[in-house]
Amino acid sequence: MSEQDKKGTSTQSPRKESLDELVFADPWLKKAEKTQHFPDDARFACAYEIHPVVEYFAVATFLRRTETIDELWVGATVNDRTFSAEDFKRVGLWGIGRVFAITRKGDELTACLKLIELLFRARHGFEWPEAFLVTGIVDESSFTSIVRKIEKELDENKQKARETETAIIEVARNLGLSPKPTGEGPSHWFARCPGLINGKTGNHVLFINAAEDSFGCGWCRRKGGVEELRAFVNERKDGKQRIDKNIDPIVPSFFNKGLTLYQLDRPKEAAVWFRKVLEINPNDTSALNLLGQALDADGKFPEAVCCLKEAIKIDPKYALGYYDLGVILSRKKDGREEAMRCFKKALSLPLREPFSAYAIYSIACLHALAGRKKEAFNSLEQALERGYPNRKYIDEDKDLDRIRRDARFTEMMKKYFGTEDALPSG
Ligand SMILES: [Zn+2]
Repeated sequence: MSEQDKKGTSTQSPRKESLDELVFADPWLKKAEKTQHFPDDARFACAYEIHPVVEYFAVATFLRRTETIDELWVGATVNDRTFSAEDFKRVGLWGIGRVFAITRKGDELTACLKLIELLFRARHGFEWPEAFLVTGIVDESSFTSIVRKIEKELDENKQKARETETAIIEVARNLGLSPKPTGEGPSHWFARCPGLINGKTGNHVLFINAAEDSFGCGWCRRKGGVEELRAFVNERKDGKQRIDKNIDPIVPSFFNKGLTLYQLDRPKEAAVWFRKVLEINPNDTSALNLLGQALDADGKFPEAVCCLKEAIKIDPKYALGYYDLGVILSRKKDGREEAMRCFKKALSLPLREPFSAYAIYSIACLHALAGRKKEAFNSLEQALERGYPNRKYIDEDKDLDRIRRDARFTEMMKKYFGTEDALPSG
């Protein structure tokens, strides 16, 4: 889902020194396995308020420190200003997961600040910390200094953009489109789009790259240079609108709304936004994939399978599509054979980590469920060899119950996780 990564994190390479230490990044929790809890050893860092879409949410952050790495965990909830630090660990938060991990360095506060900065930068453009809520390792003044620092950078970019304005900006201004810098880079601008959506002007924007004197609007499927922009505005005046079908849509806002709602465990609402993306571009495989997952989470299994199959039909080399289809199918007893084929197909294509380890793990589960112990162990070992990380998940995974009491299982856990203690099982 690398395309999604780009859309989801509209900004901004983290600073170089942070990059050097970056071990793991998943700002929109796309790689995360669903969990209802923060790790026991995670310590509350702070909570803050965000205003995505129309509602107000609280985001709680936790630091988990191992011998070698520092991890940032987040979870969201409705914004109840009476929550204390302890409440955030106790109440059921949505979308809990690990967003960043860096090499362990310095004290807890230093680590938290670095991690939180990575998170804010990655999520900028869609959600922004609007207010500080609860102190943990991080207090309000440290929190505010990070927010200010990033805001200052955005301001500097806006300033640079104004100083290095090019022809297209002047044209856009003369055409009445009110161009403004986005702050995300020294030549990033947005402006009012003259195009219509469903016959209405709406309040949508087009994006301008001043350095290249080019613009693009994903909703209207239009892009081009100065002359194309003039023509676009004139067509609008003529009451005619030509639609250019061969442009990649830029629909990050719809997509990100869907993604966030999905991560907040609100699949029904998430599906609405993924459908909007697909109205504009029916071939957006990432949106199809996520719509499928949202439908599956909403209990709509047949529709979910259709979406994933459609994504694969559009892009037969969509490795992650096969993987995600496999995950959905494997939950139904009569879908297991097809799930196995999906995981194998995904592994035959370039499938990035950690999904290849997950796919092999899933194959191990399917073998175990079918009573094929030897194959199950072989696959499980391969998955662990590839770095399948989640001991807790293995301990709780009922799919593996048939092989759990086998001596080979105990040995494997000891070999890869350094302990043979499993959670007590019934
Ligand atoms: Zn437009």
